[in-house]
Amino acid sequence: MDYGDSPAEAQFRSGLRAWLAENNPGLPASSTSDEYWAGQAPWHRALYDAGYFGISWPESVGGRGLPSVYDVILDEELAAAGAPPRPSVGYLVQGILRHAGDDVRQRFLPGIVSGRERWCQGFSEPDAGSDLAVLRTRADRDGDDYVINGHKVWTSYSDQADWCLVLARTDQDAPKHKGISAFAVRMDQPGVQQRPLRMINGITREFGEVTFDGARARAVDMVGEPGEGWRLAMTVVSHEREPGELGFVSRYAKAVKELAQLAREDRAAYTEEDLHTLGWALVGTEMLRLHVRRRLSDRLDGITHGPEGSVDKVLMTQVEQQVAHAALKASRVHPDHEEDTWMKMYLYSRAQSVMGGTAQIQRNLIATRILGLPPS
Ligand SMILES: Cc1cc2nc3c(=O)[nH]c(=O)nc-3n(C[C@H](O)[C@H](O)[C@H](O)COP(=O)(O)OP(=O)(O)OC[C@H]3O[C@@H](n4cnc5c(N)ncnc54)[C@H](O)[C@@H]3O)c2cc1C
Repeated sequence: MDYGDSPAEAQFRSGLRAWLAENNPGLPASSTSDEYWAGQAPWHRALYDAGYFGISWPESVGGRGLPSVYDVILDEELAAAGAPPRPSVGYLVQGILRHAGDDVRQRFLPGIVSGRERWCQGFSEPDAGSDLAVLRTRADRDGDDYVINGHKVWTSYSDQADWCLVLARTDQDAPKHKGISAFAVRMDQPGVQQRPLRMINGITREFGEVTFDGARARAVDMVGEPGEGWRLAMTVVSHEREPGELGFVSRYAKAVKELAQLAREDRAAYTEEDLHTLGWALVGTEMLRLHVRRRLSDRLDGITHGPEGSVDKVLMTQVEQQVAHAALKASRVHPDHEEDTWMKMYLYSRAQSVMGGTAQIQRNLIATRILGLPPS
């Protein structure tokens, strides 16, 4: 793979840079405030309307059908401009693309891609997180609908979602992985309640818990076949684990560069150990950047990813937490810096080893699915 821009890529990059100079919404560049979350929907639509969202997704669902190297350029330029990242809906898009029939794809994907409709992911439950297959939310057929009852938790974007991709048990007698189906469920109906959850960094708009009490989903809005919800869930979470997809790498690189600059300006405030931490954050970020390039190169060669996504997730978590540890020092030296962005970044980084499957679960997957070790 050539790491330089082709003429077409260079043209795309300079057009994007010019657009960003005019259209950067001036929101905080990362998820460290409620203001950031409130601005997500208009930012999504602005990016899409300008041709900068869904770039690598099929034209049939509103994308531009370009190679995913353009997504990487987008992420790099968003980070360089200090603009918010592209909203992360790619994992839902991939799940629906792979598992839904044509009518469901056409009904929902253009809305998700364009940002006209907001979605959340209703998988986790109070007693079903790592062991997701024991989920208890149920969906029972009633004429042309299913009636849904249950309780979801840690549902990102539930605050602003129009739809929720809900995993629910449709066959109570089937083995636990087999009796689950996936549904598109409207959030603005009487049987659905969303309650925000406050995060450790003070954010209340990122996620919430959602209860379904006699909520209804149309049978035609089942995503995939009955009993195939588990397979869809595995596609969704495998894409959720990929750092290239999430566009985080360029943000880590930007943060680490700023941290290095602060350390240079205030050298005396930093111990050798602090600089060591910062040095490892720089090394980790560069390693992750090259790793994502390799994944991208695989993808351009038509190799789709599988369980290696767990390696990506472990590496991404490690790097985010390395960068955040370096940021913790900066937050002590510059406590007022942009309302203490560094401290909020540190607090948020704790969630990275939990969301999308915990670090322990990723390590189990690496051990059993990649290294072929027996389950412990
Ligand atoms: C910021 C954030 C956003 C999220 N967004 C969403 C969302 O949009 N939609 C959604 O559905 N969910 C979401 N989640 C939930 C997330 O997927 C779960 O928190 C995660 O899967 C862990 O489940 P749990 O919290 O129930 O912890 P548990 O599964 O109870 O785990 C507790 C601890 O036990 C360990 N453990 C459990 N089982 C094993 C095992 N077999 N081997 C070794 N260790 C084990 C875990 O690693 C962890 O350390 C989000 C979480 C966070 C933090």
